[in-house]
Formats: sequence, C-alpha cells, structure tokens
Amino acid sequence: MKSRLDELDVELLPRSRTEDAGAEWALARAGETHQLLAVVPAGREALLDDLEGRTEGGADGTLLVGPASPRNAVALRRHLEWLRPRPLGTATSAGLGDRLGLATPGHVRAVRVAGAGLRPIFAQQSIREMSRTGRTPIEVMDDATWGTLAEGWRDGVGADADHLKTPEDIDACLAAGFSFFTVDPGDHVDSSADSAGPEELRTAVAALPWKELEDTEADLRALYVGRTVVVEDHTLQLDELTVLRAAAKYGRAVAHVARMERHLRQAAGAREVELEVSVDETETPTTPAEHYWVASELRRLGVTWVSLAPRFVGRFEKGVDYIGDLDELEADLAAHAAIARRLGPYKLSLHSGSDKFSVYPIAARQTRGLVHLKTAGTSYLEALRTVAGLDAGLFREIYVFARERYETDRASYHVSARLDRAPKPDQVPESSLVSLLEGFDAREILHVTFGSVLTERSEDEGFRFRDRLLGLLAAHPEAYADNLETHFVRHLRPLVR
Ligand SMILES: [Zn+2]
Repeated sequence: MKSRLDELDVELLPRSRTEDAGAEWALARAGETHQLLAVVPAGREALLDDLEGRTEGGADGTLLVGPASPRNAVALRRHLEWLRPRPLGTATSAGLGDRLGLATPGHVRAVRVAGAGLRPIFAQQSIREMSRTGRTPIEVMDDATWGTLAEGWRDGVGADADHLKTPEDIDACLAAGFSFFTVDPGDHVDSSADSAGPEELRTAVAALPWKELEDTEADLRALYVGRTVVVEDHTLQLDELTVLRAAAKYGRAVAHVARMERHLRQAAGAREVELEVSVDETETPTTPAEHYWVASELRRLGVTWVSLAPRFVGRFEKGVDYIGDLDELEADLAAHAAIARRLGPYKLSLHSGSDKFSVYPIAARQTRGLVHLKTAGTSYLEALRTVAGLDAGLFREIYVFARERYETDRASYHVSARLDRAPKPDQVPESSLVSLLEGFDAREILHVTFGSVLTERSEDEGFRFRDRLLGLLAAHPEAYADNLETHFVRHLRPLVR
C-alpha cells in the first residue's frame, strides 16, 4: 500500500522507515539535522499526543512532521521499545561511545557487518567526558536515539552511564534513561598498599570503614586468611599479607560500590538496570587474588553486577594498541576470566578498548565471550580523519592547537606520547596530514585533547573549532559513517569470533 510518506517532498532516510506501535515512522534529512515523520490511521490521532510538530489530517490518516527535539526523542523511546535502553545481561557486548553526537549511524553499520550476536551500547559517556564536551546525559542519550532510528537498528540497545563517582551522577543518568551504570570507585582505591609493609597494612586495615562493610577485622581474617582457592586451573594463595593488602587497597572501594549500588537500585525502583564495577583507571594492576577478594566481598554485601573491569597488567593507553607482554596479559586475563565465571558469571570489561587489536582475540578466547568492550575516543579520531579528507586546513589548525594543549590535557589520561616525537605541523605536507592519525605520538596527542578542541572559544565568543567540525561531519554523514564502519569492524570481528 502506498504511504503518505511516499508523497512527501523530503529526503527520507530509507533505513529509518518502520511500522510499529500503530504508526509509520521515518526520519528525513533536513539540512544538517533531521525531521521526524509519523503517520497514524484515521481515528488514532491520540497516538501522536506526546510528540511535537505540525500535523495534517486526511482521509488516509494524520501525518506529523516534527523536529529532532528532546521531547520527541523521549516520546519515540516510549513508543518504540527497541529504542529504549535495556539491560544486556551476560551476552558479549560492546559500548561505542560518541563524544560528538554524530557517530551512532557508523557504529550501527559496524555492528551489523561484524557483530553477529553482539549486543551494542551506542549511548556511552563518562561524566568526565560529558563535562569536557559540554554535553548533558540527555543529549548523549538523544543523539544515540536519533542515530539508532536513522539506521533502523531494531535489535535492542543498552546505554552506559560510564565512570560514575557520586549518587548525583547516578540520578542524572537514570533520569536520562540510561540502563547500564558503571560505578568507578577508583578514588577509594589505595594503590600504595601494593608496596606497603606488614605493619602499614595492619594499620590501614584496622582503619577500614567496618560498619559500612558490615564486618569486623576478625571475621575478615577468619573468612579468608590461610585459604587456598582453586578456580578452574588457577590457584590463589590467600595468605595473611595477600588478604590484608587486598583489603587495604580495595576495602574502601568495596564499601563505595555497595553504597552506590544501593542508591541505584532504590532510585531505579521497578526499572531494570545493570551495574558494572570498574577499577581500570587505578595506578597498579588488580591481581587475581585481589579480584577474587573484591568480588567475594561485593557478593557478601549483596551487590549484583553484570561486568567488572579490573586494571590488567601492561598498559591500555588511549587510542593505541596494548603496550606490554601479550603472553603475560593472556595469563592475567585467563585468571580474571576464570574468577568471573566462578563468582558470577559476569563479564570482564575492557576499558580504553579502542585499537587494542592484539588483545581482542586473546580476550575472546579467555573469556569465552563473557566480555564487554568499551571504546569512545577513537570515534573522535575517525571524525578527525573525515575532516582531514574534507578540509585539510581545519585539520592542521586542530593539530597545532592539540599540541599546545597536550601537556595540560594529558593529566587525567593514561598516555605516554611526547610532543618532541610527534611531527611538527609545518613539516607535514597537506597530502599526508591524515597520516598523523597513524603515528603513535600524534594520535595520542589528538586523542586526549578532544575536550579542549570542542570547547575552545574564539575571540568573537563563538566556538573556535566546534561548529566547523560538527558542521562538516553533519554535511558529510556518509563519509563519517564509512570511516567509523571500517574502523570498528576491525574491533568487533575478532571479539565475536
Ligand atoms: Zn574506563
């Protein structure tokens, strides 16, 4: 049957068209943004009540043409259940964060091509990155919703409120519709315990918040000290110092996670949400014995979680491959994965997971698919690749600025790039500017300076780069989506095996 949508003089996005929940839906391109179209049969106009836009009645139903606005995004998630973020459970999953708000179509394409059976998260951003890019949890959520609808991804999505540190962070992200809450107790991890002597450890353990831990030091000792735990083919010796060190290092973190989890469950009420525990951004690795202790303590406190991100051995720097001994990493992953199967099952979460091409096959093998991958920053780098191809002058300006900002902006990230090893901007001919993205140092420099690039003001109070950057990407959505697809297919294919 011919639809009213076919009679409109608009540029419909073909994959967005769908019939669901009593209406026909589609997106149309409208300059650099989108228009929402909905058609309901005569007599069903009330279905459109929660949408904004202009309506036209007719014998064959009512047409609504509305903006890609926050109100319409909320209404769409209400009408179309596949747009509504939901828990993903223990299936292999990947979070593809998007700092610019334009990457979801490319992410969807990569998942379609390479992610057989994989459950995706398109809305994923940490509070830190939201404040660096000047975006709110609602904007992050809505951008993913529009991108998901545009590409017609109807197999379900999660939404990750990443690296949450306070109950207020949880509240803001719950209100925006997130379903996956990553609690980061990193500020409560005491990495100095790694090198502390027995006396210091005893003092530190005595000072733990025992009331919050609903425990006593004597009971802790009785429960763990002297045990030999065999998990599959891994043996963990829980001698006194190992237990004290784990408790001194992670005891306050365990208490914090329990506090955050209770807040989350209470605030979420009947809504289904899932929790990740992440300690990936700490200074020193999480040993298998420490992982075992943390997970056992969280269980004792009644916490339930779907994934856990230990700090693995070696270095997971931003936007570059793993730095370290791959055999050592595989042995480490093997032990952590065995513990996650025994004490869960829950997934191991790989943070800073962009570009870790040598790690994906190992992670898939050792976790047997109980794995969640997080990437975010390299979608920004693919945006820069797209810009380099469209406006080399703008790309060069951004590179010059990124070099100026690098020493400041690197502070909260794990990176080791050096300015003196990265090419000087005036030494790179225009035709090979894009190759800066393949060099270790320039790549990291471009990676961690996204916040400054996006928020820097020009003399006339406008943004120095933001509008030009976003405008270029919005005007060339296919170019950006192609680059993203190519890049992320390489991430996802080895993960689903
Ligand atoms: Zn992380």
